[in-house]
Amino acid sequence: MYQSFIGLEIHIQLLTETKVFCGCRAAFGDEPNTNVCPVCLGYPGVLPTLNEAAIRMAYVVARTLNCTLTEQTLFERKNYYYPDLPKNYQISQYGAPLGRDGYLDLEFRGKRKRVRIHEVHLEEDAGKMIHAGDMSLLDYNRAGTPLLEIVTEPDMEIGDEAELLLQQFRRMVRYLGVCDGNMEEGSMRCDANVSVNRSGEGLGSKVEIKNLNSSRFVRKALNHEIARQEDILSQGGTIPQETRLWNENRDLTEAMRTKESAHDYRYFPEPDLPPFTTTPEFQQAVESSLVELPLARRDRFIREYELATHQAEFLTEERALADYFEQTVEHGVDPQAAATWLAADVRKMLNRHRAEIHNSPLTPPRLAELLRLLAESRIHGKIAKQTLAAVFESDRDPLEIIRENGWEQITDAATLAGYIEQVLAAHPKAVQQVREGDSKPIGFLVGQVMKASSGRAEPRAVQELINAKLELKLIQVLSFGGAISGVRREDGLVEPGELIRLRDLFADGRFGDGVRIDELELGRFLSEEITPQDWALLLSEVAVRLENGRADGIVIAHGTDTLAYTASLLYWVFADTKVPIVLTASVLPHDKPGETPHPHSDAARNLGEAVRVATEGEPGVHVVYGDEDFSPLNLKFEGLRPFTADVEGAESAEGAESAEGALGRFRTWNMERPVYRGRPLAPALAELSREELTKRLESAVRSVFVAKVFPGMQGDTLIALMNAGVRYFILELYDTGTANLRESPYSLRKAFQHGEQTGALFFCTSQQEIAVDFSEYVTGHELWREGAVPMGSLTTESAYTRLLVAILTAEDDDELVKLMED
Ligand SMILES: [Zn+2]
Repeated sequence: MYQSFIGLEIHIQLLTETKVFCGCRAAFGDEPNTNVCPVCLGYPGVLPTLNEAAIRMAYVVARTLNCTLTEQTLFERKNYYYPDLPKNYQISQYGAPLGRDGYLDLEFRGKRKRVRIHEVHLEEDAGKMIHAGDMSLLDYNRAGTPLLEIVTEPDMEIGDEAELLLQQFRRMVRYLGVCDGNMEEGSMRCDANVSVNRSGEGLGSKVEIKNLNSSRFVRKALNHEIARQEDILSQGGTIPQETRLWNENRDLTEAMRTKESAHDYRYFPEPDLPPFTTTPEFQQAVESSLVELPLARRDRFIREYELATHQAEFLTEERALADYFEQTVEHGVDPQAAATWLAADVRKMLNRHRAEIHNSPLTPPRLAELLRLLAESRIHGKIAKQTLAAVFESDRDPLEIIRENGWEQITDAATLAGYIEQVLAAHPKAVQQVREGDSKPIGFLVGQVMKASSGRAEPRAVQELINAKLELKLIQVLSFGGAISGVRREDGLVEPGELIRLRDLFADGRFGDGVRIDELELGRFLSEEITPQDWALLLSEVAVRLENGRADGIVIAHGTDTLAYTASLLYWVFADTKVPIVLTASVLPHDKPGETPHPHSDAARNLGEAVRVATEGEPGVHVVYGDEDFSPLNLKFEGLRPFTADVEGAESAEGAESAEGALGRFRTWNMERPVYRGRPLAPALAELSREELTKRLESAVRSVFVAKVFPGMQGDTLIALMNAGVRYFILELYDTGTANLRESPYSLRKAFQHGEQTGALFFCTSQQEIAVDFSEYVTGHELWREGAVPMGSLTTESAYTRLLVAILTAEDDDELVKLMED
């Protein structure tokens, strides 16, 4: 077993107006050799003077990286010759760098990790050499611009950590306003060094990797290099100390030069610059430049505003957005609503108008106003979106736009009550039918109120008022196939369910006063016959009922075997439901009791219990089966089992209970306490049209493959699937590692490398009943070290539906991974 050690050297260009030792402009993209003077061109007899802003920014970075700050820091000459260095030396720091012994905390795969900072020092940048044909051109505009170098200790182990450190560091310097962090343009640069050795033997030979101009390349190059060195070591070879270049076209590192010994730069103190001493005023200026950092701000957002991790991460990615969010919330808006709108609709508008949040027509007070109108139900969701678009187009206040267009809804209870009185009085027969137990005329009555108000009445409020007036509780029962509503044929097979049979179960009408059942058949199929189209239909029908207030509770009669999928799917979309959504099932149909030892009442009893939970239970997604109320996540169905003799034929109440245990049951895995409600992963999903949802779900399902990883699985199998269009893999492991990653046809490493090139993503779940700690990744758990995202304690079923919802929601793969990790 091997261990790897990664350290980084990061250079950032400080965002000062002028260069570090002269008054020339420090700007990117100017006409070559226009920002130069005798000092930065190294004429004899000139004197450098230290730029206050540059040294202050340097100390701010060092302080933010928790370094010990040097009170008297020294500049030294680093002597070497290179055409882009007109002075033949570079002013840098060597013996007394301005900051030492700091650290940066990372959060990697849910675990905090501290990377120590060796030192931070300030130096001047060199010029730029541009090769054109057989000529080399020199631009000295960059010569003498302030450059800060940050050197970490070799505390990282895989490329992913280095990538994360760079991303986090980039966010940090952007928050501090000291660097724009643009790696493509070179204002942030990185060299990496890595050494691999047998576990416990400490550092091996150090290999330096250059030409890394994105954090993604840093990850890829390091992971490639670690694998390369492990292969050499495992074949008995040795690693020479050398410098290698990342070849982004071939996805590998190539030897550049071997490093026999360190260069001797003959450092000596710069005679023209006195040591820099930090005065109390200077220290004060540094302290007052410190800001709340992204990670701390993210944690505060989660704590203070009760946001989900992915929401808080999105909001704190850029300081401007985080500030905007807080300014909006200060106007008394629900933080959850503000976060949801900023991540979805506002972001879309900004992209469409190529605008930035801090200077768009949507000011924080305007967004706050829009969200307040929505929260007070003065407008509904669709109007809010139209208004948002209009704000961007016309640069006016939301309320003004809504008034002008007559978009305001009627929610005032007194006004609505007037319409309702009128309608109820005009339709006594319909009212009578409802009072006698028929739910059908309710929709008609709501429709009449809508008509009377010219469509401006808020439907949910109308429904609630009618329910209150007629003392009703309306439970929507959606028939989604399965044995619960099915028929048992002569040959013993079960025919898929139909609504009419479900209705039989309600025939005795024992659901208490005022409870009205409204049924709808969504499909006649068995568990295994469910298609993405059926799921889209179910999601749309549930969404409509939640939106228009037509349900005080929803019951879904489902098949047993795939119920764990549908239940978790509903949870990821409707976790914040304000009414109970209850799934139920039964293994056997309820009819023909003579042919089965199973009591006639099983399907009826589960359904009855589901209606009870839908009427009286807590809001959230529930699964009711055999008198038990299960959480929708991490369910496992244990299928039909043979009857035992003593249970067979039992007709008594006790007998019925033991028969049910023998028939199959649900259990929850890896979950300490049941989860019924929370924050939905994709609140916007429910707003899609059924056609759109079907199309997207079908395409998502096509792009996912769930594989149980077994010994002897070949990498080529997964590659063939990728070539057939699979982009997302859920790899189900026995424990944290089942996969073979040694060099052989049975190695999955090739599949991972292929995935890296083609953009495939891997997620891993464990089929162990225990919750698995995926964070122990240094030894043994190579599969996810290769890039598979561990799904923590989620079962494959729950992870699969989460992936579908994440695919439907995420704008790109980074966001998708965040949604999966949250
Ligand atoms: Zn100059």
